[in-house]
Amino acid sequence: MMTQAGTPIGAIIAALPLDPLENRILLCHATGLSRVQLITRAEQPLTPDEAACLDTLVQRRLAGEPIAYIVGKREFFGLDFAVSEAVLIPRPDTELLVELAIERLPPDGRLLDMGTGSGAIAVSVAHARPDAQVTALDLSEAALAVARQNAAGNRVQVRFLQSDWFKALEAAERFELIASNPPYIAAGDAHLSQGDLRFEPAGALTDHADGLSALRSIVDGSPAHLLPGGWLLMEHGYDQAANVRALLDGAGYTEVQSWRDLAGIERVSGGRCPGRR
Ligand code: GLN
Repeated sequence: MMTQAGTPIGAIIAALPLDPLENRILLCHATGLSRVQLITRAEQPLTPDEAACLDTLVQRRLAGEPIAYIVGKREFFGLDFAVSEAVLIPRPDTELLVELAIERLPPDGRLLDMGTGSGAIAVSVAHARPDAQVTALDLSEAALAVARQNAAGNRVQVRFLQSDWFKALEAAERFELIASNPPYIAAGDAHLSQGDLRFEPAGALTDHADGLSALRSIVDGSPAHLLPGGWLLMEHGYDQAANVRALLDGAGYTEVQSWRDLAGIERVSGGRCPGRR
């Protein structure tokens, strides 16, 4: 036992072995207190149950488990998202894709989120744009269950489909905008065996190929489901922007371009659909 029952909450924070932010997140989770209450109730002693719970949480974190999975949630685009090991943990990088989609979706526009995972993109757009008609698909039923929970939790309407990319869509179905954060890490990439990624679903991270195969499928399949002038926006890896622009150019998209994330890395690329196919 690292944490003794009876110790005041204020003294526990300093004694925990993680970084200060993570110590506070786990202490809140174990005690049910808010961040503010950790301060206002600093003298309150830890109960034996809370001490035992906190020990388990800290051990899991020390074993490398992502903090978002331990507490079962992550904030994204100012909203709370439930997460489990069935879904990728939403990343701040992806907020760029959400902002670009919100800017480009016309009033009452239809948006398709391909490979929605936790629903981060679909739910955030639906929340910011109540006029939008949002459809989100994923291959994984377990991911869709989490995404449905997040739509309900954030009180938005999203239509969810279990689908291997475009397969479950009606042939005639068209959208004003398609957005995706697909698996784009190449097979064997060292990042897959580091940090949080070790615990995340492999199918959400890697295409088990060159890293571009899912992006290529989306570029090739989107013209059949975009209205003329509709945007395709895709997140990709730090070194894939030129390749993704080449895919878009090769498929005849117009206004092909990339956008930089907060770290200055070209993180999203996209273009407009030239016409019906
Ligand atoms: N951005 C994630 C990472 O590299 C990967 C997400 C993805 O493959 N879509 O940590």
